[in-house]
Amino acid sequence: MSPIRFHAVRWLAASVCLALLVWPIAGPLWALGCLLGGTLILLLLHLGQIDRLFDWARSAEEAPVPPGSGAWGHVFSALHRRSRIAAQDRQHLLHQLQRQRDAMQAMPDGVVILQGANLIESVNVVAEQQFGIDLKRDVGLPLGNLVRQPEFVAMLDSTASVASVLMPAPGLSGHMLSIQSIAFGDERKLLLASDVTHVERLETMRRDFVANVSHEMRTPLTVIHGYLEMLADEPGGVTSDEAQRFIAATLEQTRRIQHLVADLLALSSLETGSPLPGDDEVDVPTLLEAVQREALGVSAGRHRIDLEPGPPAAIRGAAQELHSAIGNLAGNAVRYTQAGGRIRIAWRIVDGQGLIDVEDNGIGIEARHIPRLTERFYRVDRGRSRESGGTGLGLAIVKHVLERHQARLEIVSAPGRGSRFTVRLPAQRVVARAAASAA
Ligand code: ADP
Repeated sequence: MSPIRFHAVRWLAASVCLALLVWPIAGPLWALGCLLGGTLILLLLHLGQIDRLFDWARSAEEAPVPPGSGAWGHVFSALHRRSRIAAQDRQHLLHQLQRQRDAMQAMPDGVVILQGANLIESVNVVAEQQFGIDLKRDVGLPLGNLVRQPEFVAMLDSTASVASVLMPAPGLSGHMLSIQSIAFGDERKLLLASDVTHVERLETMRRDFVANVSHEMRTPLTVIHGYLEMLADEPGGVTSDEAQRFIAATLEQTRRIQHLVADLLALSSLETGSPLPGDDEVDVPTLLEAVQREALGVSAGRHRIDLEPGPPAAIRGAAQELHSAIGNLAGNAVRYTQAGGRIRIAWRIVDGQGLIDVEDNGIGIEARHIPRLTERFYRVDRGRSRESGGTGLGLAIVKHVLERHQARLEIVSAPGRGSRFTVRLPAQRVVARAAASAA
């Protein structure tokens, strides 16, 4: 039995006993009076305790539970125990929260937590410096209103679960930030900003070095190549067979270095020099016909090269870059397909996206090489690449051109069966000609 019930029963029993004692002496009215009086006192005692309990419940969270008398003492001490445990739990959670805040502050990278419509919820000191914000002043404000770089705002607005951007630090002049945005929980985002100034500086030095060396080599190479050609073509100039063989071999090597230098310069101009592709409309059939013509020239009749021009359309972008990228894919298809093989160049529009396929039934590529093909100088078979006049830079150039057009390269291949390289252009770069003229 609960202490309160026990107390009430005891009290009532005492009142009944008293009433029974009083009855023979003072009569039934007095006995009834004792019974009612006892019950009334019991009620008033309970009301008094409930009143104290109510006052305590309305008081501040940390107020101690008042001491209770009688059976209520048990109730009050049970409440006291509960409130002590709750206070301990609260304290524990506060400690944990503080530890997490300390960990966030100790991070060498900038950390920003956004909620809802990119509103600032929490920021560490590093991020305050990097983004030029002050948590006390800016908490609850949309981060996009404080940091307005278009590429950063585009990343914030992106619905992707993970997005990244490289941009100058708004709060630290001369610094570069690599920022990752990761969606988590209930409409929240975590931004991690690393200072990559040093890495970027090294990368710029590397690019400049390669570009300068390539540039410096171009003129002497042209001169050497010119003189060698003169020597080879000079009627009665070099008569010995051996010397002619040497000249032919040297000419071939200078041609290779010239290709390499041209590809290195193309790559470094894509990486640094040239402005981002604009909105020029590049006619797809014209582009693909030119690529087919060149591939036929490289093939010299050894392959069948089909063109499926697809729906009339144009691509918004840089004509010369797109030509070089698709030309590289078609050139590879020719170089890595045995004589008598077939090559297909096709254009399609699927869900608004533009797809250019360059497909061959050539030597194919093992799956383990595919993820690395667009790395500079990565070649599956070095000997075969050299033999066929490759520089190992073709797909790296393709990758850069496509990145600049927000496009992707998809590769499907199997050894001995052939390869399909598909360029996937985003819908905003595709102009469907029929729709455009109808409009
Ligand atoms: P390379 O100048 O050596 O051809 P690329 O960057 O153009 O350099 O290509 C990288 C490598 O990818 C090539 O060396 C080759 O091994 C492989 N490759 C590219 N295209 C094809 C293809 N159509 N079929 C088979 N292998 C290919």
